[in-house]
Amino acid sequence: MAFVEIYPDRVKKNASYLRNLCADRGIDVVGVTKVTCGDEKIASAMIEAGIKTIGESRIENIIRIRNSVVDNVDFMLLRPPQKSKISIALDVANIFLVSDLDILDRFVEAPKLRKHHRMIYMIDTGDLREGIWYKEALPELEKAVKIAGGYLAGIGTNLGCYGGVLATPEKFEILLDIGERLYKQTGVRLEIYSAGNTASLPLIEDNTCPEGINQFRLGESIVCGTDVTNNRVVPGTRQDTFILYGEIIELKTKPSVPEGKIGRDAFGRVPVFEDKGPRLRAILDMGEQDVIPSGLTPLDSKISILHASSDHLIVDLTESNIDYRTGDLIAFRMSYGALLRVMTSGYIEKVYRDG
Ligand SMILES: *Cc1c(COP(=O)(O)O)cnc(C)c1O
Repeated sequence: MAFVEIYPDRVKKNASYLRNLCADRGIDVVGVTKVTCGDEKIASAMIEAGIKTIGESRIENIIRIRNSVVDNVDFMLLRPPQKSKISIALDVANIFLVSDLDILDRFVEAPKLRKHHRMIYMIDTGDLREGIWYKEALPELEKAVKIAGGYLAGIGTNLGCYGGVLATPEKFEILLDIGERLYKQTGVRLEIYSAGNTASLPLIEDNTCPEGINQFRLGESIVCGTDVTNNRVVPGTRQDTFILYGEIIELKTKPSVPEGKIGRDAFGRVPVFEDKGPRLRAILDMGEQDVIPSGLTPLDSKISILHASSDHLIVDLTESNIDYRTGDLIAFRMSYGALLRVMTSGYIEKVYRDG
């Protein structure tokens, strides 16, 4: 049966390495668990590595982690809650990334608001996902100060997620500059400048992250050891943290080109085929519902992935030196996106391994 092997100790090593790297530059790391769907053991691994704040985008995941983690850690809600969820969000998290005055207003009006709650207002420095567009940020931040007073603890930005915009020192200078201007206008000094996600790590590595930036929110680099925005592995980290296994449920030699008039596949795509003659093909017990086929890399490098429909992943074994049989397992590395889908699938068993 299809399953994913999870190595929390390896994630812990990545977390510890990156935490220390950032600490040397005066930067605090928020450990982001969302790609694992808020896996409790991954959160624990980050905490054991010395990380003091867990970042999650979903309230459900925070609740699950809270129920299993005993240590006293902070929880950051990365995505603003729906209006109907503000009260529960205040119950389970204490730091919030917000980017909307109306939501901020709801937060500070909520009966559940307590002294330990902190708001970080997001500034869009070019990637076009969340945040107030930086050129218009100051007036909105002044309003945010009026609304939230001391609850407004900082500002942040996120890059490399929608627009694929790369982090540069200039992007972070924008954040620091806005904070400085806000201080001049209002007398309020912000404590937190929350800059990076994984895509911003090169600035730490080459020591070009502007002084004053004091928080990075890291998920992919800790969990996968990769940086998809910069298309690289993160130096000093391991990538063998999660391995996916699919079971061969059919093994047959068939032609490489379908026979008949070609319409569209199960997902409306027009398939293209190259005639390579008869091929040895295996069907594995997972599909689009569980994985992103293009994000899988077989550990047996002679295997290629042909296609997937909802529940069938078809791979080509012709070139492999291994004599596979029905019931055998085939192992894969996963991209960030593929891991996200695997961890979200209710059909892939999660198996934790030591070492
Ligand atoms: C997901 C997310 C992160 C972590 O990003 P990685 O690329 O996984 O390091 C940081 N900040 C916000 C707001 C996020 O949504």
